[in-house]
Amino acid sequence: MSKVYFAPARIKKWKYADSMPGKLEKLLNEINLLSFFEKDEWTAVKTHFGSEGAHRIVRPIFLRKVVDALKGVSAKPFVTDTVRIKGLDYLEVANQNGINHLSVGAPVVLADGLYGNDNIMVRAGDILGEIAIASVIHDVPAMFVCSHVKGHIQAGYGGAIKNVAMGGISSSHRKCGWKCGRGALHTIGEGKLIWDEAKCELCYQCEEICPLECIKFENELFAYSEDKCWRCGRCTRVCPAGALAMPGDDERFMHALAEAAKAVIGTFQPGKIIYINFLTEIQPECDCMPSADVPVIQDQGILVSDDIVSIEQATVDMLSNKKPLPQSAMDEYQSEPDDILFCLSRKPYKLQIDAAERLGLGSKQYKLVEIQEF
Ligand code: SF4
Ligand code: SF4
Repeated sequence: MSKVYFAPARIKKWKYADSMPGKLEKLLNEINLLSFFEKDEWTAVKTHFGSEGAHRIVRPIFLRKVVDALKGVSAKPFVTDTVRIKGLDYLEVANQNGINHLSVGAPVVLADGLYGNDNIMVRAGDILGEIAIASVIHDVPAMFVCSHVKGHIQAGYGGAIKNVAMGGISSSHRKCGWKCGRGALHTIGEGKLIWDEAKCELCYQCEEICPLECIKFENELFAYSEDKCWRCGRCTRVCPAGALAMPGDDERFMHALAEAAKAVIGTFQPGKIIYINFLTEIQPECDCMPSADVPVIQDQGILVSDDIVSIEQATVDMLSNKKPLPQSAMDEYQSEPDDILFCLSRKPYKLQIDAAERLGLGSKQYKLVEIQEF
């Protein structure tokens, strides 16, 4: 049974050791980092840089603590993410969100290059076939996966599996474009976009949000480049009128997510990855959206484990039966559900954890070890 270490978000004493950065330091001390990382070993600290308006990411102070802990065992850390928008612009987003060499104490690099097409094709599984893994993540021998827990348009829940799977896959590929990259994951199980003219309010938010400029309104009529569309679902999410739909096979998607995670993890030797889930500022959407809504669940704390399935199971267990935060997206729902992320997304997100366990990535049985003394 894998151990999952936990530091609660609530503070009881007004001193540094009881703060979140202080507790993270303590958690990192609990793990024998020397058994995972070697002297001079290049180690990726994988996070999500967010977007220009989505500021609720893993904060730079926490990345700094991870970097310092890795330096403490003489590893050579760098902070990384894969390209979401144009590479140079994405580095600027990281900088604006406070993630740069000075703040985190290590180089900040793009895992799939400035053009988002630096990758290596790897066999993933029956659903995905081959997929393009970001070359830096493919080649680096060790990784610390720092995930901000939140909701997600397609995955319903975004934690370590989503960070490794979608975040470890390259944005694009030199020959087959987005279809071998992250788009291959997006399109699994998703049909084409359907526009309901009768419901459309012509607000054009869908046109604005599309990262690939697939939507154009001409004479108030919807034009859509079906071949270009990588089915990210952002347009359906922002539509205020319910005029856009993308019917999909959620079960197949969750399985594909686990397949992609397995492909990424398979590029590492066993015992070379540690996962940290930050159950903080838990908002309804992914950090790649143009803005971050207010949190829907109160901060819970920080979880650390070397088992991706255990940490994900512990996270969703911790989020269940929590009261929704007032003045949040949950205000639109009359009743108090026992599963807030499912209520918001209607996605069977726990299937990604089931699939990851079936694929041998870890165990849903875990032992929670709460760090008591701070
Ligand atoms: S699903 Fe994504 S890529 Fe496709 S049209 Fe909508 S926003 Fe654009
Ligand atoms: S976001 Fe919805 S309502 Fe607005 S233009 Fe697009 S389809 Fe129409």
